[in-house]
Amino acid sequence: MQPQKAQKIDLAQSYPCPCRRRGQLTQIALTEAFGCNRCQQIFVVEEGGYVLEELSTSYRYKRTWRWNGHQWNGVSSGLNDSYLPIVLGVVLVLLIIGLLLALTSTTHSGVAFWAVVLLLLALLPALMVLLAYRR
Ligand SMILES: [Zn+2]
Repeated sequence: MQPQKAQKIDLAQSYPCPCRRRGQLTQIALTEAFGCNRCQQIFVVEEGGYVLEELSTSYRYKRTWRWNGHQWNGVSSGLNDSYLPIVLGVVLVLLIIGLLLALTSTTHSGVAFWAVVLLLLALLPALMVLLAYRR
């Protein structure tokens, strides 16, 4: 996914702004943040200096970037995007198993069926949290 290794962001340096207005990022005095001279956005440095994060009023949707030494690489909004298909896939598989068990229901698989239902119910809040953090 990331062929070029991310480089640590040096607050003493200035970087081009990830906005498309050719702005320059310079450190805001006495903070661990950068300001852009074009878009007036404030960016904070996160994850030990490897991730630039847009300081946004909306906490649900944060844009982040990594510096590869030449340019900013957008980090697709957190892990949610990559994990959601997996979660959905797992839920789907569980549903199919549950259905199969329900169709071939005997006393034993009946127990298994309810175990699957309970598991799904447990997964549901996790799924809702994931969905809530999406844009
Ligand atoms: Zn900018």
